Amino acid sequence: MSFSLYLLKGQKALVTGGSSGIGEAIVRALAKAGASVAINYHSHPENADNILDDIKADKGEAIAIQADVSKEDEVQAMFSQMYKQFGTIDILVNNAGLQKDAPFLEMTLQQWNTVIGINLTGYFLCAREAAKEFVRRGVKPDISSAAGKIIFISSVHEVIPWAGHVNYAASKGGINMMMRSIAQELAPQKIRVNSIAPGAIKTDINKSAWSTPEAEAKLLTLIPQKRVGEPEDIGKVAAWLASDDSDYINGATIFVDGGMTLYPGFATGG
Ligand code: NAP
Repeated sequence: MSFSLYLLKGQKALVTGGSSGIGEAIVRALAKAGASVAINYHSHPENADNILDDIKADKGEAIAIQADVSKEDEVQAMFSQMYKQFGTIDILVNNAGLQKDAPFLEMTLQQWNTVIGINLTGYFLCAREAAKEFVRRGVKPDISSAAGKIIFISSVHEVIPWAGHVNYAASKGGINMMMRSIAQELAPQKIRVNSIAPGAIKTDINKSAWSTPEAEAKLLTLIPQKRVGEPEDIGKVAAWLASDDSDYINGATIFVDGGMTLYPGFATGG
């Protein structure tokens, strides 16, 4: 799409967990659309460096910042570093997340706290920091009609219960209400807050579910469109949702799931 080249020109974006999988695809899509991108990584600086090199080779602007998003002091330091290098923030994509799966009766408090700490508290901490800057700076009409945009990477599991993944499903269900409540509170200040809820996307988080033909065939029974998603499917939607082309969307969750939330079991019965 040729128009995407300038969709985000002049805007400063931060993508958490931006050095792999869906986060990496979002980083690349935002950079392609003209944004300067801060790539937050946790434990893989080499991945972040490779992406930086590619963006710079393409005449884009990017920096990499290490931080654990579940830690308030590290999040604040990450935003300070971003402001030092980019001056401000226009787009936050809360993406960093993980799973610590266990049957419910065996789930430890540590497994629960780790997932809630990163997937939910981490999103809160980053959203709060970004929103403070959006409110302080206000709208710059030559940059965007919004004072700022926050995108939460949720999951189909914000609505589909998931046995054996209670901590993960609870974190994603929590994101839904956090996103909508923040959107309701900040919309009068021209801040847009939305979620993208991916279905099954080929990344490391779910490799066992698609990396063999048998596993992929089983996964496809849950996807009416009969295709497992690619990270770029999410990157493209994120770039559009961060742009003024989606200016009237606020407090919404966009499911990007090949129909996974259409209850495919009911297609032939029910
Ligand atoms: P992934 O490749 O494993 O990416 C997860 C990212 O989160 C990694 O870059 C990781 O960084 C980062 N991360 C983990 N803990 C962190 C922390 N404490 N602080 C900062 N960053 C941290 O998996 P993915 O599939 O792209 O997942 C990205 C998001 O999409 C997650 O929120 C996930 O729940 C969501 N999602 C994925 C799917 C799917 O099918 N793949 C479906 C629905 C939703 P390091 O590697 O540097 O540690």
